[in-house]
Amino acid sequence: MSTPEDSTKRQGLVKKLVQLRLKLQELKDEPEVEDHENKKVLGHLFALTNNGKTQPSKCDVCANSMWSRLRPIYLCKECGFSCHLKCIDIVKRHCVAVKLARKAAYEMSICPEVGLASQKYRCADCKIAISFKGDSGEPRQCDYTGLYYCQTCHWNDVQVIPARVVHNWDFSPRKICRQSKQLLDLMMNRVVINLSDLNPGLFNRVEALTNIKKLREDILVMKKYFISCKYAKEARLLRMLEDRPHFVEGSVHYTVRDLMETQEDLLFDSIKETHKRYSQHIRIECDLCRAKGFICELCRAEELIFPFDIIAIACSQCSAVFHRDCFFKKNGVCPKCERLAKQLAITGVSFDESSPT
Ligand SMILES: [Zn+2]
Ligand SMILES: [Zn+2]
Ligand SMILES: [Zn+2]
Ligand SMILES: [Zn+2]
Ligand SMILES: [Zn+2]
Ligand SMILES: [Zn+2]
Repeated sequence: MSTPEDSTKRQGLVKKLVQLRLKLQELKDEPEVEDHENKKVLGHLFALTNNGKTQPSKCDVCANSMWSRLRPIYLCKECGFSCHLKCIDIVKRHCVAVKLARKAAYEMSICPEVGLASQKYRCADCKIAISFKGDSGEPRQCDYTGLYYCQTCHWNDVQVIPARVVHNWDFSPRKICRQSKQLLDLMMNRVVINLSDLNPGLFNRVEALTNIKKLREDILVMKKYFISCKYAKEARLLRMLEDRPHFVEGSVHYTVRDLMETQEDLLFDSIKETHKRYSQHIRIECDLCRAKGFICELCRAEELIFPFDIIAIACSQCSAVFHRDCFFKKNGVCPKCERLAKQLAITGVSFDESSPT
């Protein structure tokens, strides 16, 4: 009598046998590798590769499995498209990396569906006929493009959709086609999302974003100190942000990775750490940077303040720095700008004072 344990074992063995048969069939099907040259097809830069993965991956042309550990496969170095050797001549999808080189921007409408009829009942990628009737397999919708695809071009991969993040702060992964998968993977670290333009209201809804925005603006102010400080250069302080160079260049653009890490509560902590290190250099460690601190002209307290201090505020006109409290007690009127305006009224000439130190 067979026990449940036996039957599980047997199922395992049968599965293994099926896999071995598939491997064998594939070895028979594959042409011998003659041409070791790289191939260029529809913008893809294919190289023969043997990635040593123990799990089979799937061919982007025929959607059958590939055992690259046994036989080399073609892999596009640019977009990650991979296929059997025998499938290389029937590749239909253009390389998404080429498309991105021309224009790297996200679709910002949420799942912009046009309907199967508008697609003339054809797969949006390979153009074969698709239909919800019949037995060729149901068409699959891609949440990124909103279009329908055949099952060879859409494997139910899931990914976070940028439009849903930007409009609804929604990070739930949605089903997407192969082309969108390759595109979104490539775009993950592209600095293309200007949240202040696309959805400024998000900063009110998501506290972490507001906090990160403040830190980023501070870091840009601190950068001005570091550019003229030999000690900051020696300590390679700006290098702390080398995996996010856009944080050194500006404060408004984000990558999808930035936003995902914001939502996972990782980005704020990491930027906060950098901010702390920078502030320590300017305020405490470095005589050159410290010398550029400000004395609040409104209370004349001895303590030095800096524009990135939480207790401080910089005049948007002349950049003089005051205690926040002092400034608002004066109804937000900058004494320096006031003086300059009076001078101008009396003499007709505006003397620009040097910044107080
Ligand atoms: Zn490619
Ligand atoms: Zn194939
Ligand atoms: Zn297709
Ligand atoms: Zn310094
Ligand atoms: Zn003050
Ligand atoms: Zn001012």
